[in-house]
Amino acid sequence: QAKEHGGNTYQFFSKEMNERALDRLNFESRLLRGLENREFHLHYQPKFSVRTGQISGMEALLRWTPEDGPPVSPAKFIPILEEIGMIETVGTWVLSQACRDLHAWMASGCPAIPVAVNISGAQMKKKDFVDTVAGVLRETLIEPELLELELTESILMHNVDETVRTLKQLTRLGVSVSIDDFGTGYSSLSYLKNFPVKKLKIDSSFIRNIGKDKGDEAIAKSIVDLAKHLGMSVVAEGIETLEQLDFVRRLQCEEAQGFHLGKPAPLEQLLSICREVKDSRSG
Ligand code: C2E
Ligand code: MG
Ligand code: MG
Ligand code: MG
Repeated sequence: QAKEHGGNTYQFFSKEMNERALDRLNFESRLLRGLENREFHLHYQPKFSVRTGQISGMEALLRWTPEDGPPVSPAKFIPILEEIGMIETVGTWVLSQACRDLHAWMASGCPAIPVAVNISGAQMKKKDFVDTVAGVLRETLIEPELLELELTESILMHNVDETVRTLKQLTRLGVSVSIDDFGTGYSSLSYLKNFPVKKLKIDSSFIRNIGKDKGDEAIAKSIVDLAKHLGMSVVAEGIETLEQLDFVRRLQCEEAQGFHLGKPAPLEQLLSICREVKDSRSG
């Protein structure tokens, strides 16, 4: 139709729409340039055993700091990477970098703990996803038991039959899967029992209101009960206060993660904490 009106495609866009389209184009090209310039790196956030207080795992979180500006949140750039079809490439890089970093971690004498990597829906849907994971494990020589994949509830529920098939293949590889952000998707609880999943992460939105909202406390408690009955262990995400930690301890959550316990940081920072612990033990 634009052509009939003289070929000026832009004439139907309002000024505001035009600006939004330009912002978006600009963001995409910065993102692509950022990938080329290797402006992406990983941070790690520790998880702790609630019972012993010891570090029990770490989660890789992707970071983008453009050379010409402040860091951009993954909540903003991951969906765009998905839309422009780049998440598979970036996601595979995250997987292998996390495995290489785990090597460095163990080489420094830190305990062998699992590393968790977030996986997006587009990645998991790829036919060769399981092969990609197997390839990364082979190349990095990481034991499959030390790799955890975090998949959100909504991704898992998207196509249940296919999900179950993929999860079974991953389990056969020896890799474990956790359900991320649990309680925020539209889980059909009856499917949950068919998923070979070891861990469930209670979404931080329920943890946030502990001590303030009886309803959210009840939901957190029910999620833990449900997980236990299905033989899954539970991670409480987003622990920001001692009160929240005490609450999830009473619920007997196995692991906890949050700013109160440890913020996401570069691997080197975690390594130096691990070294201090070792040095203080060896006198
Ligand atoms: P997520 O996997 O649920 O990760 C938890 C997010 O909560 C992280 O945000 C983390 O920094 C933040 N967080 C942790 N503890 C606390 C706390 O106590 N309080 C508060 N307010 N926040 C806390 P981040 O790093 O911005 O990541 C956001 C989301 O982006 C992640 O949520 C994950 O879904 C996605 N993401 C991050 N890295 C990757 C990646 O490599 N691949 C994919 N596909 N997604 C990723
Ligand atoms: Mg996660
Ligand atoms: Mg989460
Ligand atoms: Mg999340």
